[in-house]
Amino acid sequence: MNADALHAEVVGKYSEFINPYLARLMNFAGFGVEVQAEGCVMRDHEGREFLDFLGGYGVFSLGHRHPRVVAAVKDQLDRMPLSGKTFFGKNQADLAEKLAEITPEGLQFTFFSNSGAEAVEAALKFAKGATGRAKIVSTLGGYHGKTLGALAATGREKYRKKFEPLMPGVEFVKFGDVEAACAAIDESTACFIVETLQGEGGINLPPVGYLQSVRARCSEVRALLIADEVQTGLGRTGRMFGCDHEGVSPDILTMAKALGGGVMPIGATTFTKEVCNAIYSENPLMHTSTFGGNPLATAAGLATIAVIEEEGLVEQSRVKGERLMAGLREIGKRHDLIAEVRGQGLMIGVEFSMDEVGELVIGQMVKRGLVAAYTLNNPRVIRMEPALIVSDAQIDQALEIVDAAVGETAELLAQFA
Ligand SMILES: *Cc1c(COP(=O)(O)O)cnc(C)c1O
Repeated sequence: MNADALHAEVVGKYSEFINPYLARLMNFAGFGVEVQAEGCVMRDHEGREFLDFLGGYGVFSLGHRHPRVVAAVKDQLDRMPLSGKTFFGKNQADLAEKLAEITPEGLQFTFFSNSGAEAVEAALKFAKGATGRAKIVSTLGGYHGKTLGALAATGREKYRKKFEPLMPGVEFVKFGDVEAACAAIDESTACFIVETLQGEGGINLPPVGYLQSVRARCSEVRALLIADEVQTGLGRTGRMFGCDHEGVSPDILTMAKALGGGVMPIGATTFTKEVCNAIYSENPLMHTSTFGGNPLATAAGLATIAVIEEEGLVEQSRVKGERLMAGLREIGKRHDLIAEVRGQGLMIGVEFSMDEVGELVIGQMVKRGLVAAYTLNNPRVIRMEPALIVSDAQIDQALEIVDAAVGETAELLAQFA
């Protein structure tokens, strides 16, 4: 089948059988059909290559198809892909032990699931069950997923409105505002759920000391602190976890995106002994998932953490992030369209001075072979989350493309001004 026919067929089926509105949106943006990927490079149906600087919103921290993760999953596939659930599973045991080792102090037990939203659902449910309280404090602009519970704690009305009433008892405070958070977190609060760096909200960094202050307030009133590290976890921000920047130990920590090494979907909710006792002591099956912790996904998780440790990817994230951010700031000096460049490690946002510009710049970048995306909750910001294995040459190539894409967008806008 020729490339155009393949594209037409796939877009047609999206329109007819998946979501016609999404099909139109993606087609309008000029996206092709993804057929193959390796490392930091994706290939479409025409054989065109793209530098992947979106990295699946943090999924591809090891790049696409990291050979060690692929090998671990293939090996597991040949022996036992899914478990019968009644026997013990070694991969799951090993991965839970490893997570207890690399997560902040006190986080000892892990519940495995299949996605970020599921990891958040477990976290919220555990916090309510462990405290016997119903109030949940979350942040404006925060993103925790789109299932009903996670959505109730997601700080963007646009996504919640149509489905209300959602889970009651959720109160939102401004992200990064210590006073507002401490005032809202009280003796009736089950938990404060927060990203250590808001991803979908627009790559927003809290002020230094924020996590420590909310930790202290939670402890004072015996509310639980949930760090949603679904996106920031496992090296993305230049530390193993976002919490590590401030030496903070939450009561519950969620992760997902990068944990499957870009090969398998997996979610994990890691929690303290106190939470474990409160939830499971009376009933060991109080919260379960059929596919959670399956042999394939946990094999991928184990291989992923081994690669992160052995290849020094946490340090790479910091070093490469500095190079990319410095380059973007240089470009920002040349273009008024760029208002700010900010981030941590390889989780970087470029904020434009006007609302609709992000979309235009992304179109120009895709045309030149670079993929990034705007953030769900803040269309002024485009985000870059390349693989932690990205090379200096790839960073420099991406910077050239960004420079040209912003330049051409500025010219286009000048024509219509
Ligand atoms: C992506 C994300 C989620 C939701 O994960 P899904 O796998 O899409 O359900 C939750 N929290 C944060 C911080 C995320 O970035």
